[in-house]
Order: sequence, then structure tokens, then C-alpha cells
Amino acid sequence: MKKKAKWLFLLLAAALLFSACGQKGAEGETVTYQGVGNGRGGEIKLEVTLEGGKIKAIKTLEQHETPGHDKSLETLAEYAVEHNQVPVDGVAGASLSSKGFVEALTDALAKGNIKPEDLQAVDVKKAAKETIEDTADVIIVGAGGAGLSAAIRATEAGADVIVMEKLPFVGGNTLISGAEYAAPGNWIQKKEGIEDSPEIFVNDLTVAGGKQELITTLADNALDGAIWLRDDVGVVWEDELMFFGGHSVKRSLIPLGASGKEIITKLKAKAKELGITVYTDARVTKLLTEGNAVVGVEAQGSEKNYVVKGKAVVLTTGGFGSNIEMRKKANPEIDEKILSTNSSGSTGDGIILAQELGADVVDMKEIQLYPICDPLSGALLYVDDTRLYQRTIMVNKEGKRFVEELGTRYEISMAMKAQSDGYGYELWDQAAADFSKIKENHPAEIDYLLENNLLVIADTLEECADHFGIDKDVFLKTVETWNGYVDKGVDPDFNKRGTLHKVETGPFWMIKAVPAVHHTMGGIVINPKAQVLRADGSVIKGLFAAGEVTGGVHGNNRLGSAAIADITVFGIIAGENAAAMAK
Ligand SMILES: Cc1cc2nc3c(=O)[nH]c(=O)nc-3n(C[C@H](O)[C@H](O)[C@H](O)COP(=O)(O)OP(=O)(O)OC[C@H]3O[C@@H](n4cnc5c(N)ncnc54)[C@H](O)[C@@H]3O)c2cc1C
Repeated sequence: MKKKAKWLFLLLAAALLFSACGQKGAEGETVTYQGVGNGRGGEIKLEVTLEGGKIKAIKTLEQHETPGHDKSLETLAEYAVEHNQVPVDGVAGASLSSKGFVEALTDALAKGNIKPEDLQAVDVKKAAKETIEDTADVIIVGAGGAGLSAAIRATEAGADVIVMEKLPFVGGNTLISGAEYAAPGNWIQKKEGIEDSPEIFVNDLTVAGGKQELITTLADNALDGAIWLRDDVGVVWEDELMFFGGHSVKRSLIPLGASGKEIITKLKAKAKELGITVYTDARVTKLLTEGNAVVGVEAQGSEKNYVVKGKAVVLTTGGFGSNIEMRKKANPEIDEKILSTNSSGSTGDGIILAQELGADVVDMKEIQLYPICDPLSGALLYVDDTRLYQRTIMVNKEGKRFVEELGTRYEISMAMKAQSDGYGYELWDQAAADFSKIKENHPAEIDYLLENNLLVIADTLEECADHFGIDKDVFLKTVETWNGYVDKGVDPDFNKRGTLHKVETGPFWMIKAVPAVHHTMGGIVINPKAQVLRADGSVIKGLFAAGEVTGGVHGNNRLGSAAIADITVFGIIAGENAAAMAK
């Protein structure tokens, strides 16, 4: 062989050998690769083992997903191994975690030169769906905060309880919420010398959303609900309060970590301690009746169906913020162009189920937007906690303040929508960031916002303005004017309530935000006993409802931190009354 030809031959042989290794895991070979993706809580790192060209195992090396959403990683890993495929459909209710898993798996496969379409699918034969038949005194439909509270109280009142949840995990909107809780007359207010009472709370709720019959029940029982969560369920409340827009005094309790994780983790643990059966992946599709009374439910899951009979049913399925068609029908302005902060489970199922039995609904067109949300996904931005500690100002692209930063969500959202580019640019300083513990409580969100240029942390105010293309001269003047107002203790432009704080110690933090659909105030009509009513005011026997599935509590505008109080108070009432009926 000539020298040149010999070299060519050796190169070809080496290339063949390399490409054989490139069929990672081919011919019985076992190889592992690591891949990274971005989920809801930040980086998801997977280790993928391939044997004979097939996915043999997937191990999660790192993840920061919310409890519940993290379970979706296991579900997807099981699917990928069983089918030898990269999953196409994510886990319902955990779309961002699912996206992160798929990215990480695809990245790992790419390290072995494998494209998802190269994987040979395994034909998995599914057994026919089994139907589970069960009975309980009380059946709870929906395992968010209202549902789990109702289940626990009904059990404590002596009832045998079953909870049905359509997603593979419990928690609903409550899990992803900040879970701040308006409790008038609470122990921290007393320590800080803040005067408050259920009557003042009723007045604030009435000013915000209009007079509602159920407000008094909410206000009178809100503090007891918070104490029940603390003393019976074990929820830890921080030793600080937040000041939500529209409240006349600072009254909102903060759960540990400023997240609904604390409430749901503790409710779930309490439900487990009490031996309550919770069926997940069980979407209730029908209420069963005998005569005029509700006596059970039918539910469908991906693997099983359910028929559960009982003496009372409590609907706690949450609102309909994620159901675009239902939103548009209720209020055509709230269309698909507006993103949503809600869990994918919030599709109004309970409202539809109750209406099928003649239940009345109220205020369906009243849909609340939350002003400070991610312009890309609609997720509520928790760095905005700084605002609720009264430490931010917000400007427009022209560099001017345009609204009271502690006005109602409606006022702020509408003011943002009216600006030239539809965005608000919220500014605070390092002292505010430190005070509100946003770095400790929401690190993944901060990383995400920085990566997507939606947050800038800069040494100077000029850099903040440049980052977002804001009129610099006007903006600098606005901040100077604001700091002058703080010296005088009044805001003559927008009359901002609470204590005024300067924006003066760098680094400075600025975010770009849009309003997104946040809360559906309308829903099923109930009485103060949480019984579901028909339009003629009569009770549908055996049917109760609590939480965001109901209407008539918040009128046309819910105040921040009033929902967690609402779902706890009415969850408890519904659970107790359903148990009493079942006796
Ligand atoms: C991002 C965010 C932040 C928030 N922050 C706060 C706050 O700080 N303070 C405050 O007061 N409020 C806050 N809210 C509002 C508050 O969290 C909600 O109003 C409240 O959690 C609703 O509780 P719920 O139990 O009624 O419904 P959810 O917690 O949504 O639970 C309903 C459950 O029912 C399930 N379900 C639905 N349909 C079916 C069916 N057919 N069969 C079985 N199960 C079903 C759902 O999957 C879900 O798990 C926030 C909301 C969001 C989205």
C-alpha cells in the first residue's frame, strides 16, 4: 500500500471506530451521559444510562422544582424508560418542569450523538382501565388549600373522607401561591401596635370589591383560620407582616419561605397523619345523584377510573384562570393574548359540574389581573415582594411614575396596560432587596429573570435605565423627586400609603413586568354554611363548595392575601358542615 493510501485507510478505520462508539449504548454497551435543562425552579440535571441503544435508567442529579412538580420528573423518567422515547406530552399541571426534563434528556442524548427520533419506540400494551369503587362519608373534589382544609376538618369532626385530585400531585394554585394570609387583629399586629379588627377588614373588602354577604363570615373567622393552620396543622408563620395593596393597615401573615409550599406541605402531612385517602390523577367528571341529593362522583384517570359513593360532596376545584374559552365567554376582553399566573388545574371544572345540577353562579365576568408578572410566561414574579414591603417605585418607558404602587391590582394593571409599551418597570435598592429576603426566598426566579434580561442589578440608576431603554434624564429626576417625598413623608403625586422608603443604596434592581390573569372572583353561589344554592335560593342537598370555585366573596376585586384566608375559612366551614350532614 502506498504511504498516502495507508494513511487514508487508518483515518477511515478510526472514523468507523469513532462512529461505532457514537452509537452510544449500541450492541449491549452501557454508557451514561449527563444533560441539563431549565425547569420552573431552575436547572434540572439528569444522568441517562443507555444499554444496547435503549434508555435503561434516568437519574435526577439536581432539580429545584416545587414539591409536587418534582414528582413530574419521576413520571416522565418512567415514561421515557418504558417507551424508550423522549416524552412529547408533559405532565399536566407541571408544564415548565416537563419542559426542563425534556431539555435535559435531549441534551444528554445529544452528548451521545443521539437525536430523539433515533430512539426505537417500544410498543407498550396497556391493560384495560380498571374501575375503583369506593365509599366515604364525605368526598372532596380538588386537593388545593380549600380541599385539604375541608378534608382535615371533616375527618376531625368524625367523618370518613376521600379526596379526588385530577393532577398527579396535590396543591393547585395554593401550592404555587405566595400564600400570604390577611388576618385582622393578629398577634404580630398587636406586637407592632397596629389597630385592626374584622370590621376594618370588612370595610377594606367592601371598598375594594363591593358589599358581599359572605364577607362578614370571612372577616370574622380569618384570624381563627390562621391560628388553626398554625396550631393544628403546623404551618409556620414568619415574624413579619406584608402590606398588600388596597388594605388600610398592614395585616398579612407570611408563611415560612413566603410560599404556598409551606401550607400545602403541612396540610398534606396532616391529611396523611389522619389517614385520609387521596386519589391523584382522578379528574371528577360527574356528580352522582339520588333524587335531588348529591351522593357521589365519577372520575377518570390515565390508568384508572373511579366511582366513589358518599353522603356529601365538597367542590374545591379552584377557579378558571387557565381555561381560555371559559374566560372569554365570561369576559371577552380576557382573551388568549393575556397570559395567566395560574396552575393548569384551574379550568373551572367544579363550576361546570355544579351548574349541571342547577347551581347558580355569580360575578363570572370579574377576572383579576396581577400586575407584576413575567412578560414571557405570565408567572407571578415573587421579587415583587419588595413592593409589598413598601419599598419599590414603578416607572414607565418614559421614566415617569404613573400609579400608586400600593393601589389595588386592578388599578395598577389597568394603569400598566395604558402605558405606551404596556410594561411597568419596577425599581428598588439593595436595602429593599435585603429587607424582603428575596435572594433567600426566590433565588431560582432571580437567576431566570437575569438570564432573560428581565431583571438588571446595576451599580447605578443610569445603567438600569439603559438596560431597558428608559428615558434616563426623566427617570433620574423621578427618583430624586421620590426621595424628596420620602424626606417630607408624603407622596403628592399618587398618595402612596404605608411607610415611604428611599431608593438610594446601590446596587439597584429593576424588573420589566406585565399584568396576567390571576384570580377569578366569580363562581358557584354558596351560603355562609358553604352549601351550594340554586338561583331560587334553595340548597342542593349534599353539595358544598369552598375556595376559588365559589363566587360572591370578593365581588369585583379580590384584595391580595384575602384568598388564602377565604379558602381556609370556607374550607373549614364546608368540611365541618359536610361531616355533620353525613352523620
Ligand atoms: C401565583 C399565585 C400567587 C398567589 N398568591 C396569593 C397570596 O399570596 N395570597 C392569597 O391570598 N392568594 C394568593 N393567590 C390566590 C390563591 O392562591 C388561590 O385563590 C387559592 O390558592 C385557591 O385555592 P383553592 O383551594 O380554591 O384552589 P386550588 O388551590 O387551585 O386547588 C384546586 C384543586 O382542584 C383540582 N381540580 C380541578 N378540577 C378538578 C376535577 N375535575 N377533579 C379533581 N380535582 C380537580 C386542581 O387540580 C387543584 O389541585 C395566588 C394565586 C397564584 C396563582
